[in-house]
Amino acid sequence: MRCPNCGAESADGVYCSNCGAPLPGLSEAEQQLVRKNEEYYARRFARLRGGRVLSWNWAAFLLGPIWLAYRKMTLWALVSLFLFGALFWFGLLWALPLPMVLIGLLGNWAYYWYVRFWGRECATRPPEQLERAFLRRGGVSLLHAAVTEVLILVLWLCWWRFFSTAVTLFSFRG
Ligand SMILES: [Zn+2]
Repeated sequence: MRCPNCGAESADGVYCSNCGAPLPGLSEAEQQLVRKNEEYYARRFARLRGGRVLSWNWAAFLLGPIWLAYRKMTLWALVSLFLFGALFWFGLLWALPLPMVLIGLLGNWAYYWYVRFWGRECATRPPEQLERAFLRRGGVSLLHAAVTEVLILVLWLCWWRFFSTAVTLFSFRG
C-alpha cells in the first residue's frame, strides 16, 4: 500500500512502516468486524487513527438510532433512543436536529472505538470461537435496524396519543 503521507510503498497494515502515518486500511480484526463498506470505513478510520474525532457520516445523520443498531452498537442505539424519546416527551421537536447532527458527526468515531474494542476482545478468544465472535459483534444487522424502527414508531405513537388526549381534555374543559 502506498502511504498518502510520505509516498513510500508500505507493507499492509494500519500505520506506514516508513513514517508512522495512519494508512487507509483496516487491520485483520477490523475487516472481520466492519465487513460491509470496508473501503469507506478504512478511509474514515485512518483519519480517526490520526487523532481526529469529528467526521461526517450521512447514514448516521439521517438514520440515527437505526444506523447505530444496524452497525450493532446496541448501547449507543438505546442511549440515542432515550434521548429522542425525551425530546418527544417534552415536546422539544425543534431540537430533534441536534442529536441527529451529533450522531452524524460522532458516529464514525463511536464506530471506530466499537470496532477497536471488539477487535481486542475477540483476539482473546480461542481460535475455534473466533469466527462466531466476529459474526456476533461485527457486520451489519437488518434485524437490529428493524427492531429499532419499530421502537421509534411505538415511541412516536405514545407521544402522539398522549398529546392528542391532552388536547382533547383541554378543549373539553375549555
Ligand atoms: Zn509514510
